[in-house]
Amino acid sequence: MADSLLPKVELQLNILLAGGFRDLALYRIKVKKAGKKNDFFLAVQIKANKEAVLLVDKACRKFPDKVLTGLVAHELAHIVQARQCKFYLLWKIRDILSLLSAKLESLEERDADKIGIQRGYGEEILALAKYLRKHYKSYTTEEALTIEEIKALYYQK
Ligand SMILES: [Zn+2]
Repeated sequence: MADSLLPKVELQLNILLAGGFRDLALYRIKVKKAGKKNDFFLAVQIKANKEAVLLVDKACRKFPDKVLTGLVAHELAHIVQARQCKFYLLWKIRDILSLLSAKLESLEERDADKIGIQRGYGEEILALAKYLRKHYKSYTTEEALTIEEIKALYYQK
């Protein structure tokens, strides 16, 4: 991709890794362009040996910086979740189960938003939630925290 999208995401990633997600600095996280057919804006593939790939959809090009920060923070929170599993295999099992169970997936997604807020990105997670609801009518909110829940978590600190 010759444009500035991947460097823009890499910049956000580096800022987050130097900020609230410093414990992930030991990960090798690559940023790559997503394939044409996908149903996400940003997704993380977590591999063994502390490697991960952030896949970026071209739709992210339109996202304001704050929204993009919220999105990258949410994906990094999934790596935090993976680290909560002591063994990579346990994470893989958890990951596969969440693909099979909408209820479990919803728990994981909501928990990822919470982690992002706990690590200091409440404002950005809120900006992301508002942006997706405003611009993407098809965006389903069942698997994310509601605006009210985000505000409650964000302002309680
Ligand atoms: Zn997620």
